[in-house]
Amino acid sequence: MTGNPAVLVEHLHKRYRDNVAVQDISFSVAPGEVFGILGTNGAGKTTTVELIAGLRAPDGGRVRVLGLDPQRDRRAVRHLLGVQLQEARLHDSLTVAELVELYRGFYPDPRPASELLEMVELTAKRGTRFDRLSGGQQQRLSIALALAGRPKVVVLDELTTGLDPRARRRIWASIASLREEAVLLVSHAMDEVEELCDRVALLEAGRLIALGTPAELVAESGTSSLEEAFV
Ligand code: ATP
Repeated sequence: MTGNPAVLVEHLHKRYRDNVAVQDISFSVAPGEVFGILGTNGAGKTTTVELIAGLRAPDGGRVRVLGLDPQRDRRAVRHLLGVQLQEARLHDSLTVAELVELYRGFYPDPRPASELLEMVELTAKRGTRFDRLSGGQQQRLSIALALAGRPKVVVLDELTTGLDPRARRRIWASIASLREEAVLLVSHAMDEVEELCDRVALLEAGRLIALGTPAELVAESGTSSLEEAFV
């Protein structure tokens, strides 16, 4: 193992024309850490993770994923990252097993299909078409697909939005079972962040305004939960 952080972001800047989306953001995420990125709509969360994933180039500052530059070392970084896709509609007519095989095929050393399905408790649904799964099952499958290539860094955006409490708990259990992967969790859900995240970055209008463990942020705010602290 190298001594590199899983993710390093230093003085990151990104603007869209004259709209500044990310301003001077710095943080690092250790291997195995679950790191939450919080903030209201338009705070710069998605832009930040897109810069980390190499989907956009920064206007200033730098990003490193296990020491590599996502802009320069595109292929290598793509294999280190597992990004949960929001655009699941594409896969409607494929079964769970077919989708898992499709995604495993993208990587040189994929996780076994059986292991992926067990991780998200979908073994019994192997033969079910994607569009016949419940919302929570679809979400769990998208997590399994993000884990197919044994990523070192997993990016999860709005993990459990719109799901019922039981489905959310099952997804949280899948994430909590990850040990080696660093997880970047973009969320509006404070209960989810409190449940899963080791540390949290709070963004507002493109700036990093707080960084620490959920307990530290709650203590600093003088309230009794993240929900009260930031709503
Ligand atoms: P949300 O919670 O609504 O998803 P976010 O925190 O992920 O928001 P971003 O999507 O990163 O925020 O957006 C940050 C700012 O950049 C916003 O002001 C947004 O309008 C702007 N922005 C985002 N994407 C683009 C784009 N492709 N072109 C122009 N402006 C953009």
